[in-house]
Amino acid sequence: MKKTGFPRFFAAVLLILLGSSCKSGAECRRETIFAFDTYMTFTVYGDKADEAISAAKERISALEKLWSPTDPESEIFRINHRTESTVTLSAETSGLLRTMLDVSEMTGGALDPTLFPLEKEWGFISGEYRVPGKERIAALLENTGYENITLDGDRLTLPDGFELDVGAAAKGKAADIIADCFSGIGVKSAVIDLGGNILTVGEKPDGGKWSIGIRSPYGDGTSGTVKCVGRSVVTSGNYERFFVEDGKRYHHILDPKTGFPAENGIISMTVIGAESVICDSLSTALFVMGTDKACAFLAGNDDTDAVFVTSDGIIYITAGIKDTFTYTGDGNAEIRIIEGK
Ligand code: ADP
Ligand code: MG
Repeated sequence: MKKTGFPRFFAAVLLILLGSSCKSGAECRRETIFAFDTYMTFTVYGDKADEAISAAKERISALEKLWSPTDPESEIFRINHRTESTVTLSAETSGLLRTMLDVSEMTGGALDPTLFPLEKEWGFISGEYRVPGKERIAALLENTGYENITLDGDRLTLPDGFELDVGAAAKGKAADIIADCFSGIGVKSAVIDLGGNILTVGEKPDGGKWSIGIRSPYGDGTSGTVKCVGRSVVTSGNYERFFVEDGKRYHHILDPKTGFPAENGIISMTVIGAESVICDSLSTALFVMGTDKACAFLAGNDDTDAVFVTSDGIIYITAGIKDTFTYTGDGNAEIRIIEGK
């Protein structure tokens, strides 16, 4: 039995950020840290760069203290080891969970922040991977389902046995919080890259658009690039964290309906929009939904753009980015455009 873990940081390194060189003449600082189990890089232009990067590092470490599922001091750990059924959340956690529950609702439960018991069983939390038996999965699914938890302002009520995992959207929310912090400091131009979860702040210092590379699901290099200003670009892929057992690959994005890794025809889903927490939530949810449901969702949501790759090698892009998306693959992919309503 062969088991292979794939360190998450590869995703970050390979999601190439183009055109953000610190050599452009403008005052610029770039710093990389390791947090949330990934590499995070802040690139900030202008005379507030030092102050902004120090503030970003402080914020990230505070947010990691809230959202780590394994740190006994964290808020998520405290929620998962509660003694009362109702707990009061911090503003950051209630904001994050509110968005996640809204996206759960909008996507028919494809995003579900209550899957922690299953993530643990598969070994995605400890790194000790295993394929659980069908009966065990069915038993654990009894203690999941976003519709069974209630968030009323900052008061969260969960049934016994339920445990939260905010990993599908935590980096997105963190990026939005850092962007707000940068705006407060007076930063006009920056890129926040939290392990491939990218949020651009303002325009490039020369007034142009940022060009963001979307990592190819097949290995090194990119499938394409998108140009954007003040938008977030977030990718979920089946290659980011997985193991192989008896020749079959099992990845970390679970279908809440089956408790097994989602195999609905999508291998990489990139969502582009204004708010990083929404892009992060949707990249996971649309990945789970599969091609037809993802296309229908995107056709009905003008604010959200996407690029996704299917297991049969087709690249789908929304009409909103057809003029700013550049294909950089080997020339063999078919590209289909998802038109709006
Ligand atoms: P990454 O964290 O690798 O960038 P995602 O944003 O897609 O990727 O989030 C995947 C993480 O979200 C998993 O590691 C797990 O903690 C959690 N998760 C997996 N499947 C789901 C799901 N269907 N709904 C909500 N959270 C999920
Ligand atoms: Mg996500």
